[in-house]
Amino acid sequence: MPDAPADAAKRRAVAPVLCYPAERLPRPDSGRIDAVLSDLTPVDGLRVPPRDAAAIRVPKGHVLRILSVEGPQVGDLNLFAAANLAERFYSGKTRALHGTHLGTGDRMWSCFPYLRPMATVAADSLDWYGTDAWGARVHDVIGTRCDPYTGRLLSDADYHHCCHSNLTRALAQATGLGRVAAEAHVHDVLNVFMCTGFTADRGQYFMKASPVRPGDHFDLLAEIDLLAVLSACPGGDCGTEHSSDTAACHPLEMEVLAPSAAVLAAWREPPVSGYDRSHGV
Ligand SMILES: [Zn+2]
Repeated sequence: MPDAPADAAKRRAVAPVLCYPAERLPRPDSGRIDAVLSDLTPVDGLRVPPRDAAAIRVPKGHVLRILSVEGPQVGDLNLFAAANLAERFYSGKTRALHGTHLGTGDRMWSCFPYLRPMATVAADSLDWYGTDAWGARVHDVIGTRCDPYTGRLLSDADYHHCCHSNLTRALAQATGLGRVAAEAHVHDVLNVFMCTGFTADRGQYFMKASPVRPGDHFDLLAEIDLLAVLSACPGGDCGTEHSSDTAACHPLEMEVLAPSAAVLAAWREPPVSGYDRSHGV
């Protein structure tokens, strides 16, 4: 290890600056969220089997409720603009804007060149969890998704029901795309109900058993028409391991809830980014 310079302490003492101050972001309209939540009618829903995935369409202004049923279970969520698979959830930028974990009022942002809120977290029954003694929180945008490629890298064994493969099958079925074409659209997820953090010593990504219990729900308000694809992770509550059939796994439910006709009539979807894409050319 190289010797520290004479002014090492001074360099380390420089105060951090937030990369993206949250107060500069357009804030969600809390009055509009309250209006949506005050009058909801179930209009669609399905059950995601354990170690599998399913897709559902969520019209703008509607709520996608992800519901824990039967037992603690983590879900890996992909979001697409319903009419344009090229506009999809951007986990990395969402993390840069809101932090490592999402809570009520945070947005799920779409990729370049769109970069607009696809969904807003409208309610979260696990909001009480906060930050625990290990620095862990719930609903992360850190992890990528469990996948057979990393599995092969680490163990040589092929496992076909990782979230990546589950999302690929469900997206193919929902869109009519072939397996290879669908796989290219699968992207880094929001880990719904997953409890994670970074170790204090080396900053390594860790997981621990999710505090979610049957009846808990995570509600996303669709800002635009969405195609949502959710995998019930083979890691179950992600308290031990994933990428195998070892962990106890449970289903998840997705419900689509419609707001009042007045809310829908007044709905304005956020515009895509106004950048002209000239890139200095
Ligand atoms: Zn997974």
